[in-house]
Amino acid sequence: MHAGVPSDAMRVWATLLPMKVKFFAWLLGRGRLNTRAYLHHRNIRALEDSWCVHCPGVLETDVHIFVGCHKAHVVWARLGISMHCDLVQRPWDIGVGVTLPDVLRVDFFLLLLWHLWKAKNAMIFDQLNLPPREVLNRVALDLDAWTRRYKKHRLELQVWRDWLATCNPPPSSTLPS
Ligand SMILES: [Zn+2]
Repeated sequence: MHAGVPSDAMRVWATLLPMKVKFFAWLLGRGRLNTRAYLHHRNIRALEDSWCVHCPGVLETDVHIFVGCHKAHVVWARLGISMHCDLVQRPWDIGVGVTLPDVLRVDFFLLLLWHLWKAKNAMIFDQLNLPPREVLNRVALDLDAWTRRYKKHRLELQVWRDWLATCNPPPSSTLPS
């Protein structure tokens, strides 16, 4: 690290996110998330036990979970964000150029990655196949619960929250969701 220039990974620790989310993002940025593929490459899991829970025959890599998998694709599409493979190890660069308060951009997208990860785990451990609407709803619930945590960026948080509500409107009562 150069003196005075924070490393990219420092941007994870500089967020106001809970420690468990920061640690998750730090592992992701270092390519050390405990995906099935990561465990397979370390000879901890057999190949046939290392597929994505949604995609038989496709290795559960971090890039697959957050970019390649259709479960992630529909979430990004709902937000209108183009997500690329190379952003998985630079998650602090996701959404650069989005016209929302940049001060909370890294926080927002790391939280979204966290919920994609948790949704994948819910399928593995609880056989719970969350629709994209529910993944984004869980992001919204966290943001709503964290008004104290984000007190110094209250207005910026509300802008992100409003945008999320626009991208992920509640299901119409007259139509099946
Ligand atoms: Zn998949």
